[in-house]
Amino acid sequence: MAEQEQNKVVSIHSGKASMYLYGSPSGYLLVDAGLKKSIKDITSVLSRLNAKPGDIKLIVITHGHSDHTGSLAEIKRLSGAPVMVHAHEAASLEAGFKDMPKGTGPLWRIMIGLASLAPKAGSFPPVKPDVVIQEDTDLAPYGFNGRAVFLPGHTAGSLGIITEDGALFCGDTLFHLIRRRYYPPFADDSEALQESWKRLLDEDIRTAYPGHGDPIDWEDFRRYYHERFSS
Ligand SMILES: [Zn+2]
Ligand SMILES: [Zn+2]
Repeated sequence: MAEQEQNKVVSIHSGKASMYLYGSPSGYLLVDAGLKKSIKDITSVLSRLNAKPGDIKLIVITHGHSDHTGSLAEIKRLSGAPVMVHAHEAASLEAGFKDMPKGTGPLWRIMIGLASLAPKAGSFPPVKPDVVIQEDTDLAPYGFNGRAVFLPGHTAGSLGIITEDGALFCGDTLFHLIRRRYYPPFADDSEALQESWKRLLDEDIRTAYPGHGDPIDWEDFRRYYHERFSS
């Protein structure tokens, strides 16, 4: 891998889902696997980088919703990379199904209710995860300077990744489809989610990369948090 690719974050946008590649001297970390059709976007970004699926050395799934796991079976097959997930999401991966989450506001609850009626809502090709973690986990053994951190709330087993150079891959723990609308429209446990946010404020972060939307300047997130939650 070219030196300029090291520690570089490459976004892969596919529909409303965002996935990320994070470079290290040994290869790429892939965060999440998008929708079922996202495999095309993953492979085309890799070829733009002059890389191949085999250059992915680890796949971390932030949580089991089908917009993060749709192309997982395919990219795992193509790359041969191990799949890491939290224990609370492992059964969903193996089943190829995870229920739609609860809306965090009345309008979203109605939208989720309607979306759940669609055939195959929440389903994806099943995958047996290789590394099932219970707590924060150092990624150095996989060749990456960072750690997977446990961020329950959006789902019971949501994970983030914090790299040594201050990138946070946060899955759906924060959203950024609309400027400064960070609160996820869906969460299984809003209290736990707010605890996870609080925890992140203690971390050394520069930029957060959400599962949906644009990168988040962390200083701006801190300001927003204090405006919204401090009395
Ligand atoms: Zn989600
Ligand atoms: Zn999502």
